[in-house]
Amino acid sequence: MPIREWYLNITELPDFDQSTLDYLQELKPHKAKQWDLKTNQMKAYKASLLEQLLKIQNNRCVYCGTGLRRQLVDREHFAHKDQKGGWPEFMFITENLFAACGYCNRMLKGTKSMIKLYNKNYRDCEFHLIHPYFDTASEEISFVERGVSDAIFVKKITQKGEDTIDFFELDSASATARRAGYITEIAMYNQLSASDAAEVKAISHFRPE
Ligand SMILES: [Zn+2]
Repeated sequence: MPIREWYLNITELPDFDQSTLDYLQELKPHKAKQWDLKTNQMKAYKASLLEQLLKIQNNRCVYCGTGLRRQLVDREHFAHKDQKGGWPEFMFITENLFAACGYCNRMLKGTKSMIKLYNKNYRDCEFHLIHPYFDTASEEISFVERGVSDAIFVKKITQKGEDTIDFFELDSASATARRAGYITEIAMYNQLSASDAAEVKAISHFRPE
């Protein structure tokens, strides 16, 4: 069964216990540097966030959809948190947080603006690109088969879809090859013996289902 939604449509959010939420609340007003606080609560929050995101996203990058490697996973702020030109006030908003691969996050996205029209309520902001939680990605872009291939070729449906394809280079030869490679990896993984599969799981976040 080929993967059709490479650009992930997130429908579930991580949740946190009350003491974590209280801790984040007490830090207000939020400043970018708080993200790197070395407190036990902050470490626990970030560890729990990543663990939940990987589960929700089935260990795939929220933007390109391919498998995430443990050492290259970023906790990614859709609206970036930098103190200058960013939105640290949205830093701990769960709808603003995803897991992304280093390439999509650092090479392509960086601190480019995602907010088209600001509102102090995050969910009422207007965004330039497909929002993984608020938008339904499959209504903006589709992935299609060509000849005997899997659904690795991308096609725009809307303008926002086209802008997202351009921004994340989803139609580049290398992104298409990465999607094809990921499907091949899953096929190989599915042929592993149970003990080999367990070994792969132990050393990697790459756990396709
Ligand atoms: Zn990616």
